[in-house]
Amino acid sequence: MARILMYHDFSASGTTDFRSLNVEGIRLQFEFLRRYFHPVPLLQIAEQLASGCPLDPKMVALTVDDGRRNCYEFFFPLIKEYNIPATFFVVSSFVGSQGWIWTDKVLWLADQPEAPKELLHNKLPEIFRKLNRMRAKDRDAYIEAIAARAGISIPPSASPKYGACSWDELGEMADSGLMEIGSHTATHPILSTLTDEESWHELTSSRTQIEQRLKRPVKSLCYPNGMIGDFRATQIKQVQEAGYSCAVVAQSGMVTASSDPYQLARLGMTRKTSTLEIQKQLDGLVYYRRKLGFTKQLKRA
Ligand SMILES: [Zn+2]
Repeated sequence: MARILMYHDFSASGTTDFRSLNVEGIRLQFEFLRRYFHPVPLLQIAEQLASGCPLDPKMVALTVDDGRRNCYEFFFPLIKEYNIPATFFVVSSFVGSQGWIWTDKVLWLADQPEAPKELLHNKLPEIFRKLNRMRAKDRDAYIEAIAARAGISIPPSASPKYGACSWDELGEMADSGLMEIGSHTATHPILSTLTDEESWHELTSSRTQIEQRLKRPVKSLCYPNGMIGDFRATQIKQVQEAGYSCAVVAQSGMVTASSDPYQLARLGMTRKTSTLEIQKQLDGLVYYRRKLGFTKQLKRA
């Protein structure tokens, strides 16, 4: 058994934004991981799985999704300080651009003081479920319409919190030898909404672009959104045919000897900022609670 941790957003020391892990939180997690676990590159877990070698239960691989600059700014300096390897899954059309990843437009809208009612925090999962099933054009029009109804115009450039890394920053991270750069497709579509021809393009063009820019092979993939139903069996096969060695999902779980290297489960770690929370997540308690249906905290009688 091994673990793959999933991260998204990071923020400066002292920040209390609930969607990101601040510098103190990263430090606490890294100290915990160094003390009780053995951080390894994701590809090491994939290789051991493929060769049938037993997985050391202390092995843990760190992954960060999307390609936002806050990974370079706040996570990467601590990766170097603690000498912990990680994989950064980037959306290739987003890197080096001024634009947004579409999911961030929704989160940005939800954070505005005059945010539309349909984007209240408890309604976000429902909206995302709906948007995830749409084709890109309809989805973008739908997001623009929500903004227009609330009288908000979405700026063409992503706000700093949601901005992308530059290719130079990505190159610097790759050159450190600690950050593997993987693909998170070209435009972050939900693959199951695409034809096989379109998904092949997403999987191969992103890989080629990153390889050409960084002059390094791209071996791992992260499915956008990555839950059951977000990709089809034919697309899992495409990932393999496109030359990737492994792929990760967002479905919660551990990696075991019987795991499919092209559907590796992860443990979401973003906001775990106390030792107890980190421990519960890594022990799999949170995972099993969810599996058993205990989605909410039980109240005292
Ligand atoms: Zn993503």
